[in-house]
Amino acid sequence: MSILSLRGVSAAYGPINVLHDVSLEVPARQAVVVLGANGAGKTTTLRSICGITNNRGSIVFDGAEISRMATADIVRRGVAHVPQGRGTFADLTVRENLDLGAYLRRDKAVRADIDRCFDLFPRLSERATQAAGSLSGGEQQMLAIARGLMLRPKLLVLDEPSLGLAPIIVRDLFDTLATLRSERELALLIVEQNADLALAMADHAYVLEAGSIVFGGPSEVVRQNDTLRRAYLGY
Ligand code: ATP
Repeated sequence: MSILSLRGVSAAYGPINVLHDVSLEVPARQAVVVLGANGAGKTTTLRSICGITNNRGSIVFDGAEISRMATADIVRRGVAHVPQGRGTFADLTVRENLDLGAYLRRDKAVRADIDRCFDLFPRLSERATQAAGSLSGGEQQMLAIARGLMLRPKLLVLDEPSLGLAPIIVRDLFDTLATLRSERELALLIVEQNADLALAMADHAYVLEAGSIVFGGPSEVVRQNDTLRRAYLGY
């Protein structure tokens, strides 16, 4: 069963159409990667899911139509968005950023969840009282993901998590994402330029070209398709 379904989604910035009739599925507890050239509409797809763009079509999350909902309601239903550029609060400490991640929650388990984030990312634990703005790029990405997890989401939406990170950090990051999917039963929707690593981790892949989906299927099939491989993997 899919946790997220987009059917015929179009999106525009003012008069300019950027997405055309995009349909995609994220099965529960699976990882889906969206690939495509710069400007193809990957970020816009994620923003549409999170209620940030003007869009038409149907977006169903966990059984509810969310395409007309306010972003806060979409978040409350269990979609955590880690935007490009990470969006952490530079002047606040690591712990304060994590506390803010739980702002929509009413339960008392926030402390325990912060500890779980620290188990997942020990480097954040060592830097709990440090200002987010003074973290390295990799640490900030960890914090952005950890902050998303503080919502206890069912779906984590990640926009280019590897951007600006050293290859070894990127591999660690993808290992952690794989752990999240299997151990916390979380579905992942990832936009990623680092196609090789993303395809190795993801179950399914979609390719966006000029705002339209030109391929969707198991990641393994993208890796075996000569045309797609040349276009997106570079070999
Ligand atoms: P990249 O890999 O470079 O991040 P992308 O596939 O994520 O690209 P989008 O950011 O979704 O692409 O942008 C798709 C198109 O929409 C681009 O042509 C871009 O210039 C345009 N666009 C994005 N944001 C806006 C905006 N706020 N106003 C007007 N046009 C926009």
